[in-house]
Amino acid sequence: MKNQIHNKGRRTILKGLFAIPVVTIAGFQSTANAAMLSADDPTAKALGYTDKSTTEGQSCANCNFYQGDTAASGPCTIFPGKDVAAAGWCKSWVAKA
Ligand code: SF4
Repeated sequence: MKNQIHNKGRRTILKGLFAIPVVTIAGFQSTANAAMLSADDPTAKALGYTDKSTTEGQSCANCNFYQGDTAASGPCTIFPGKDVAAAGWCKSWVAKA
């Protein structure tokens, strides 16, 4: 009886441990597969987003809000759930710290 209770508790702990990586991987995939931000998005329009910067020396790739590292596109904290082009730009551009 005591062993059954002990085993049940161990199984519960193991299930919890296995659940953590699944949640982490699922969260990572949703960010990695985000849709590209459209220039027609109302917030994008308000901030003058373009997928090809015309401002010398400024692009998403060197903006502090860009989360895509060296990728051609990636997340931007200003546009949650969407990817922006590394070559893009908007009025919220701030030099990478
Ligand atoms: Fe690009 Fe604007 Fe996002 Fe900076 S804030 S990464 S310039 S979309």
